Amino acid sequence: MLPAKSSLPVGQQMAGYDAWWLSSAGTAPPAALVDICDLGIGIQEVPAHPFACFAGVDGESLSACVRRHRSSLGDAAYLVLVFNGSVLPPKATRAIEFGADDVCAADDRDGLTLALARANRVNLERRQTAAIHRALDLERDHMQACIDNLPTPIFFKNERGIYVGCNKAFQDYMGLPASSIIGHTVHDVACGPYASVYHDADLALMKKGGTQVYEAMVHHADGLPRDILFQKAVITDRSGAARGIAGAMLDITERKRLEAKLTDAAARDPLTNIFNRRRFFQLASERVAESLVQGRPVTLAVLDIDHFKSVNDRYGHAMGDRVLCDVADLLDHGIGEGNLVARAGGEEFFALLPGHDQSAASDVMERLRNDVAAMRVEDRGLELTVTISIGLAQLSAGEEDLWACLRRADHALYDAKHGGRNRLSLAA
Ligand code: GH3
Ligand code: MG
Ligand code: MG
Repeated sequence: MLPAKSSLPVGQQMAGYDAWWLSSAGTAPPAALVDICDLGIGIQEVPAHPFACFAGVDGESLSACVRRHRSSLGDAAYLVLVFNGSVLPPKATRAIEFGADDVCAADDRDGLTLALARANRVNLERRQTAAIHRALDLERDHMQACIDNLPTPIFFKNERGIYVGCNKAFQDYMGLPASSIIGHTVHDVACGPYASVYHDADLALMKKGGTQVYEAMVHHADGLPRDILFQKAVITDRSGAARGIAGAMLDITERKRLEAKLTDAAARDPLTNIFNRRRFFQLASERVAESLVQGRPVTLAVLDIDHFKSVNDRYGHAMGDRVLCDVADLLDHGIGEGNLVARAGGEEFFALLPGHDQSAASDVMERLRNDVAAMRVEDRGLELTVTISIGLAQLSAGEEDLWACLRRADHALYDAKHGGRNRLSLAA
């Protein structure tokens, strides 16, 4: 009696071999095959992943026969089609094209023996290959699990710039599932203008080899741009040829923000928050150089609060600080676009007016002087007004530098003080 109907075929096992005679139509095994090896008594279900199967072509078409056996046995089994009568090359070729591994005539004892030997050999190789694949799959799964647990976004691209792997952190960072990353290019994964930056860097790295470190912006999944330190390395094969790129993304947004804050703090006066003397000289040197190249005039001014000591003496140091802050604020907001003002120290300020000759600069500074005089400074119920004196000098292009011009402005300030204060004096 045949076993219950199943997707697996039934057959007779060859004693001493993991090989089977398939007899779906109940055909008896060829005598030659019985001669080579004892066939198991009775018909039983062929287990999954059999080693080799000899199958008779039982009246159906060759393609239907091969398809039927392949769909029930799978790709791994070594399938030998056994024909009654001789097997001419065209028939053998078609059988192999349809998916059989081997063909043999039913009465060809030597042919069947050789087919069994070939099955042995091929199955050994197939089992070794399957073992290698299993080991590679395991290794890949281990590596993926490992990088998925790292918080740093990591990605791999092949030599054509196509993503071939990434970790969970990279998917989260870009806001895309692996399926929208793997098999795609940087232009599919990143924002337009940023993508070109990464692409150009990849090309440069593939050309140069080794490693690469650079900073660039990345559009985070939350919609905000982030500062990223990219660390990339070329992956090479055993011959040293470039096979792709491995990259890691370090989010340095917070570090950049702190750096910018520190840089800004170093450039500003802590009391008034306007530029300090150091920053003034940095910026003024650049702007003077630009103006000279453009052939435009540049004028400098030195400003000093009048009788400031008596403000401290009469109203206290806190009120003095309030006056400094309010005057600084007024100057900073009123100096005008493209001009520069800074606290030089104490109650003294510097101003730079690129593109202004002495006359135009005088207009700006006189306006500021009047604004300061009109300003009421209040602190804890106290109220007062202050005035400033100003010395002004236009830079003599080609004859003096920034510092020489400032000295002339300082002399002019001295004249303004001696002239009675709350006034502007032009340098000689
Ligand atoms: P003049 O009209 O000739 O400029 O007289 P002045 O009193 O303004 O000048 P003087 O140089 O005699 O005094 C400047 C004062 O400014 C002395 C100093 O204590 C004060 N001062 C300097 N820095 C600060 C500050 O940060 N806060 C306060 N409250 N006072 C300061
Ligand atoms: Mg003063
Ligand atoms: Mg002074």
